[in-house]
Amino acid sequence: MIIAVDGPAASGKGTLAKNIARHFGIPFLDTGALYRATARDLLARGGDLQNADEAVKAAQNIDPDSLDDPHLRDPGIGEAASKVAPIADVRAALLDYQRRFANRPGGAVLDGRDIGTVVCPQADVKLFIKAAVEVRARRRFLELRQTDPAITEQQVLADLQKRDARDRSRVEAPLLAAEDAHLLDTTNLDIEGACRAAIELIETVLGAGGKTD
Ligand code: C5P
Repeated sequence: MIIAVDGPAASGKGTLAKNIARHFGIPFLDTGALYRATARDLLARGGDLQNADEAVKAAQNIDPDSLDDPHLRDPGIGEAASKVAPIADVRAALLDYQRRFANRPGGAVLDGRDIGTVVCPQADVKLFIKAAVEVRARRRFLELRQTDPAITEQQVLADLQKRDARDRSRVEAPLLAAEDAHLLDTTNLDIEGACRAAIELIETVLGAGGKTD
């Protein structure tokens, strides 16, 4: 069983995907971490984010053990990731790893931007998570403030808007709900409520025999 969870930055899709994976007892892959690791490794080598050859090399050489590095969550790395993500050859270099993960026996949950549209168009259930950008900024601000007391909510909002616009407007695998994705708006839901809603939705779709379209 493959479950695709897509959505914009700070929509809560990572937390949701993790909880869904735990509920169904299947592994979870945060695909954003692959793009973040590509950008992190490229920058660590003094590389240029616009240089496709250097970015592809970084993508091809990611150490899977480095994907839980807490620095991957730094806002600067998210921003840098969205600059290497439009490069078609970077996406191609990361595709195989994601598909192999998805096709493990027993299945998997993957979260990202293009899981339902490109990585796993055959997913059994596709969720597209949305939430008002002001609410996403507030949630991300409260999280980041714990490690960066100087950060402002306005700065977080501006960064999210910039990153979403970049992800939505790129030619390769833009941030987009698949036609057969189920929309889940978490604007007025807390984490528990959003997880409950997501799991109910998935169980309804699976109970109805899988894909509805
Ligand atoms: O999800 P996360 O915020 O960690 O993703 C960081 C960046 O990586 C995104 O802004 C996006 O540009 C890119 N990304 C992508 N496709 C994915 C996952 C992430 O392009 N499947």
